[in-house]
Amino acid sequence: MKRAVYPGSFDPVTLGHLDIIERSASLVDELIVGVLNNHAKTPLFSVEERVTMLQDATKDITNVRVETFSGLSVDFAKQCNAGFLVRGLRAITDFEYELQMAHTNRSMDSEIDTLFLTTNLKYAYISSTTVKEVAFYGGDITHFVPEAVIDRIYRRAEEKK
Ligand code: ADP
Repeated sequence: MKRAVYPGSFDPVTLGHLDIIERSASLVDELIVGVLNNHAKTPLFSVEERVTMLQDATKDITNVRVETFSGLSVDFAKQCNAGFLVRGLRAITDFEYELQMAHTNRSMDSEIDTLFLTTNLKYAYISSTTVKEVAFYGGDITHFVPEAVIDRIYRRAEEKK
């Protein structure tokens, strides 16, 4: 059974994330999307809300499951019995950090490999941070995030004003 973990903050999930999820899910038997519960960051959405949004956005992909984790991605991958960590690469600016993380992770657990997927060009500029910024100022986010999560993002942006 080939299993991979796609770890991230997903605050909130974007079309760029969903594209990576769809493509990596087609490469493995099971893809586990790991939502990082990072106490150091102050997210816009709680970890439970982020999981629900990802579940709604991926409900048609049968071999995807969404879970939360805290701590190291390699430890979570090991716990899940996964052989791969999936990461998306948008631009050269992602590359340096991601390469460093991949080497660090491999030095901690040589049995877990990082699988990089280059983003679909049409989503390359999308980030959770810019989605939040646009939503906060009432801009159009419909081309940035899955339809299932649009209303929730606008509602939260309104509450935060
Ligand atoms: P993190 O805090 O771990 O960077 P993110 O939720 O921002 O979490 O991103 C998770 C993963 O998804 C990372 O590998 C990131 O490079 C990738 N990613 C983010 N946005 C996009 C996008 N628009 N297209 C493809 N991959 C993306």
